[in-house]
Amino acid sequence: MANLKFELSLSIPEDPAGTLIAGVKIPTALADRIPAIRNTIRYLKSYARKINEGKPNEEMAVRAQFHVCYHDEVPSKPCGDWQEI
Ligand SMILES: [Zn+2]
Repeated sequence: MANLKFELSLSIPEDPAGTLIAGVKIPTALADRIPAIRNTIRYLKSYARKINEGKPNEEMAVRAQFHVCYHDEVPSKPCGDWQEI
């Protein structure tokens, strides 16, 4: 049976004039939409199932996470923990 599989990786740059979300300021226009985006992602997750669940090549296809990323910081420092949406 086929699946419609989503994979997203969207890194939003910090905006010093923005609104604080989960420890980082992002553009306020986006911050205002985060609750609706979170609800939409959770809705998608409610339909998602692991691929090959219980088999050796099982694929985790029920995951939506975010973290505060410091990859571009100078000097570098560790990123925040991944948190499930
Ligand atoms: Zn990171």
